[in-house]
Amino acid sequence: MPVPLDVASVELRLGLAERLLRQSGRTLPDRASLGDGAWLQQLIDALCDLSSRDALTGLANRRQFELALAAEIDRVARAGEPALVLMIDIDHFKRVNDTYGHAAGDIVLQLVARALADCVRPMDTVARFGGEEFAMILPKCPPAFGEMVAERVRSKVEGRSVVVAPGQTVRVTVSVGGAFAPQWVRTSPLLWIERADRELYRAKATGRNRVCLEPSPAMQVSAEERSLLFGTSLFQDFE
Ligand code: GH3
Ligand code: MG
Ligand code: MG
Repeated sequence: MPVPLDVASVELRLGLAERLLRQSGRTLPDRASLGDGAWLQQLIDALCDLSSRDALTGLANRRQFELALAAEIDRVARAGEPALVLMIDIDHFKRVNDTYGHAAGDIVLQLVARALADCVRPMDTVARFGGEEFAMILPKCPPAFGEMVAERVRSKVEGRSVVVAPGQTVRVTVSVGGAFAPQWVRTSPLLWIERADRELYRAKATGRNRVCLEPSPAMQVSAEERSLLFGTSLFQDFE
């Protein structure tokens, strides 16, 4: 049996949602002038946006990144379009915090986030993966283009100095690791991220401030092979 609506308790929650949105710097239109239905829709849209962004940098958060990654895996498996995931980690970031303080570290994170966002197309996803680590999804990304973007990311961060206090500037670099999705194959978010992470580790181990990309899959799938992939014969060998 449906539970009757407790209007007072609903209004209490709406008030809380409004406060959360205001606190995050978002403005909501006036409820009375907009009408309940349209106002509620805008409130829900704003809450969705709030829950998909990282509060410090404004980039997509980990949750949003994982949603976009799952959608991208689906696209690559269905359409066979090349796609690249980049994992980007600030080099020796702990030193920034230790030398200039946590607030300065936060400013650096915000500036690096902006530099990364400046490097990509509107269709790409740039996210704060956690701590001082960022991630990118580049759909429809042939290997040469991927290499160019990854290098652009590295050099853009290296080229910017960050003012952390009056008269105090900091320069940081990033290490970048990347892996292409295997085309026509349904990989898992975990496996794809792990492969990109392995490259990031290689970039760190070989000196930092560099890009390491996993070689793109050597096997180029022809149209004929593609049709085989979706036929039954391919799978009979494995049964
Ligand atoms: P590496 O080059 O090997 O990546 O070294 P690193 O110093 O960058 O890496 P490490 O993992 O030792 O340190 C990361 C630091 O990032 C430690 C943590 O305090 C800091 N950090 C994580 N999140 C935040 C944040 O939101 N703000 C600030 N200011 N610091 C953060
Ligand atoms: Mg780091
Ligand atoms: Mg790290």
